[in-house]
Amino acid sequence: MSWIKHLQVGEADVYSLTDGQFRLDGGAMFGSVPRVLWERVSPADELNRIRLRINPLLIRLGGENILVETGFWDQGGEKFEAMYGLDRDETVFRGLSEVGLTPDDIGLVINTHLHFDHAGRNVTPAGEPTFPNARYVVQRQELHDATHTHERSRASYVAEYIEPLRDAGLYEAVDGEHELRPGLGVLPLPGHNLGQQGVVLRSGGETLVYTADLVPTLAHVPLPYIMGYDLYPVTTLETRKRYYGEWFESGAILCTPHDPGVAFARLEEGKKGGFVGVALNG
Ligand SMILES: [Zn+2]
Repeated sequence: MSWIKHLQVGEADVYSLTDGQFRLDGGAMFGSVPRVLWERVSPADELNRIRLRINPLLIRLGGENILVETGFWDQGGEKFEAMYGLDRDETVFRGLSEVGLTPDDIGLVINTHLHFDHAGRNVTPAGEPTFPNARYVVQRQELHDATHTHERSRASYVAEYIEPLRDAGLYEAVDGEHELRPGLGVLPLPGHNLGQQGVVLRSGGETLVYTADLVPTLAHVPLPYIMGYDLYPVTTLETRKRYYGEWFESGAILCTPHDPGVAFARLEEGKKGGFVGVALNG
């Protein structure tokens, strides 16, 4: 059965695609939250890893096809793929073709950030743009940080899928909140790193938010459930506090980049205060 999930958001058609599944250390994914708590929602395998999905989003708006995130790097080799338990049960390309599209039909790509599990398919194995008719929107800060890494950030970036587009002038570097099309814009969501951005779609009185790794899965909605991978965890907390109330009040539809099973969700008030994420559909 196909993974693709469709949702009408005002005048936009939104499709949750997938580029397969991978696995990351459960302790690293939940930071300071003890295993006895996170294991209830995210069971770990024999290597202590939890299952995650790579969830790019296709937005069809005003006759244009816009892709949020390009997928997991496909040139890491066998050892790399085994380390991350990569399972290409689906790909972003198969998802596009199910909607009747090819990479040539994508007019705009939004990179929430340039980590290999989000922007890894920015270029083809030959180093050409995967989406030749698109510009790739990224925060200027992120483009800088991805090409000036340090010991703590280096493992998340690979020059091979980042630099060819920079050298070809295909990135559209933006600063902060930025409207890309009427009703569609990007929003800085710092914490995971400094230059991460989310995507906000507003159409017909409805709002959809692509959370990027501010909220990697629905299990991460509770405020202290912050990844050990985050470079600035307290900033993650502040960013969540800044936006959760607004997203709850407006009934925003949330899409997370790594939930293993849920494409679209909403925030609801939890029994013990704070918010929880609730699936809109399977
Ligand atoms: Zn990620």
